[in-house]
Amino acid sequence: MKLSKRVEKIQPSATLSVLGIAKKLKGEGYPVLSFSAGEPDFISPKSALDAARDAIDRGETHYTINSGIPELKNAVAGYYSRRFGLNYETSEIIISSGAKPVVYEALQTLVDPGDEVLVFAPAWVSYVEQIKMSDGRPIAVDTSETGFVPTVEGVESKLSPRTVGMILNSPNNPTGAVYDEATLKALARLAEENDIWVIFDEIYERLVYGDTKFVNILNAAPGIRDRVILINGVSKTFCMTGWRIGYALGPKRLITKMGDIQSHFTSNASSIAQWAAVGAIEGAEDDAERCRSRFAKRRDILVSLLNGIDGLRIESPAGAFYVFADVRNTPIPDDIEFCERLLSEKFVALVPGAAFLAPGFVRISYACGEDDIREGVGRIEDFLKSKRAR
Ligand code: PMP
Ligand code: GLU
Repeated sequence: MKLSKRVEKIQPSATLSVLGIAKKLKGEGYPVLSFSAGEPDFISPKSALDAARDAIDRGETHYTINSGIPELKNAVAGYYSRRFGLNYETSEIIISSGAKPVVYEALQTLVDPGDEVLVFAPAWVSYVEQIKMSDGRPIAVDTSETGFVPTVEGVESKLSPRTVGMILNSPNNPTGAVYDEATLKALARLAEENDIWVIFDEIYERLVYGDTKFVNILNAAPGIRDRVILINGVSKTFCMTGWRIGYALGPKRLITKMGDIQSHFTSNASSIAQWAAVGAIEGAEDDAERCRSRFAKRRDILVSLLNGIDGLRIESPAGAFYVFADVRNTPIPDDIEFCERLLSEKFVALVPGAAFLAPGFVRISYACGEDDIREGVGRIEDFLKSKRAR
């Protein structure tokens, strides 16, 4: 019996695979330190936990409206209005079981077989696979020579009559790059000139550090509202990865179609988790800020420790909670071998850059405790020293 051609082309999520291996080894008693998944280690905010308990006590245990409860859509609309001055009707918002499914639903809605979608490499693992799952063609625009920031020339060199959209991600996973206003304006102009969609994944928008300011693409280029789908969720901002709540904001025509797909796919996101997300958005501003400042401190510790290692030179990333380190000048320049041997010899889990279309780099997530960061970098240093000593 055969499997579909589609599934033969799909790679499993490398981030989740490494996380799974790390958790399994840890379960077997190995002293694993995992810098693999982008998953804050802080507990979810009290306002979210309380809202979830209340929802259970009230018996909110049934299907909800497919596209999400009005209370959460209103909370998301209020958040966007307060934070970005952007006004969305509830009919322009869809709630889903994480941001990952809304990206997928958007692609399913926009991509026909053979259509091309631009992704900016290094790119988060799921974009490429989801484009393939939608029978589209992912076209990578390399940003590794331009500070991990897209350029007009880079985009123009990859545009074709089959291009239907681009996926932008700022702050970026895996590089931590945050796109400035001029870049977003230029990309918006290209989108307009070429009549293509922009999926703007801003799930890390709260996590920017130092003097860097996060810019929402519609604040930079309000004129392209009709072609933009904003992607966000509670996973990163409110440390709520396990609750699985994400959302998209965009033109009603598109959001409605995404809802049609969702109605045959996951149906509504968990009723209880939706109420927890209302609790977070409406009551956890302080928690979000506290987490952000703790990430800022961890970033500084991690970057300064890594820069003490021979062969590594790290620029401090402006956002998200990842350092994307170039290992090409180390004794193990191959990122996959680097990660495999580091895990098997020192029990430190990182994600190879190849998974993000960027071989020669490794992604180190600092969404873990400071002690783990110190211990983990110590092990990486020992690991590299032992290779040099040979
Ligand atoms: N976008 C990016 C860039 C991510 O790193 C992630 C990983 N969590 C997601 C979307 C999906 O987030 P979730 O499904 O947990 O809401
Ligand atoms: N997005 C996170 C990461 O990149 C979580 C895992 C995933 O969904 O890819 O590690």
